[in-house]
Amino acid sequence: MSKATPLLGGIELGGTKCVCLLGTGPDDIRMRVSMQTGVDAQAALRALEETLRQGIATHGPIAALGIASFGPLDLDRSSATYGWITSTPKPGWRRTALVPRFGAYQVPIGFDTDVNGAALAEGRWGAARGLDDFAYITVGTGIGVGLFVHGALVHGMLHPELGHLRIARSPGDTWGGSCPFHGDCVEGLASGPAIAARTGAEPPLLGAGDPVWDIVAHALAQLAHAIVLATAPRRILIGGGIPQARPELLALVGRQLARSLNGYIDRPEIAGDCDGLVAAPGLGALAGPLGALALAAGTLAAGTLPRERLPAQALER
Ligand code: ZN
Repeated sequence: MSKATPLLGGIELGGTKCVCLLGTGPDDIRMRVSMQTGVDAQAALRALEETLRQGIATHGPIAALGIASFGPLDLDRSSATYGWITSTPKPGWRRTALVPRFGAYQVPIGFDTDVNGAALAEGRWGAARGLDDFAYITVGTGIGVGLFVHGALVHGMLHPELGHLRIARSPGDTWGGSCPFHGDCVEGLASGPAIAARTGAEPPLLGAGDPVWDIVAHALAQLAHAIVLATAPRRILIGGGIPQARPELLALVGRQLARSLNGYIDRPEIAGDCDGLVAAPGLGALAGPLGALALAAGTLAAGTLPRERLPAQALER
């Protein structure tokens, strides 16, 4: 990266682990510290604050901070709880203020979901570089989708939650699914916890030939089918812990997607088994942490003001 690129800070809050990093991009990561997310949000945030403080003491001041977190999040800048985790089912993290905690640094803070951050990182540095229209699907503890359309992430009243899309079921599969809200939505059928609940085994321990992967691929292909028709992405990247453990899953998804679209879309990307459309993230397991840096870089470019006026009572909720 250019020496002119200012140092950026990043906090990635994942369902299982958190990462604090300092750097300017994938080729220049000067600090990366991982820790368990756990069920005590305040303890985890204190540890992240301390790690960030030590990193800045060692490597110098940061020009912006990016926070990429599991959701749902309040991303409405006019809201009193902007920068909070809202209704997460994750124990210990419901209604947790994130952005207000880091306001003391007086730098612009970019804030978005972990999947949106990863999408941004893939667009800036990874397998979607140069594309104005792509999607990033993460398949792990949950299933999230970052939609990049016309050169920007899609936001509305909140971030898209396509992991909870209701879909056509794999023929003959009647299992009820594991989503506490919808049962057999995509996340309820294809997330790590869903696979574990269905099979009684942790997903990485299931062999590549296990029949569950066809069902998982079918659910992800149904999600991809909806994304193709809704936003016409030029690439769909599928990352996260499950495809990292089972990389052959992507070819299954491509095959099922081609079958589901059934020749309706006449584009070279869809030819064959959608080889030109469905792809692995270029940044691999670093897509998540780099997403936080990409959010920092994005907010710096946008000239976002620090949010020092956020309510102090938000700090210890
Ligand atoms: Zn659901």
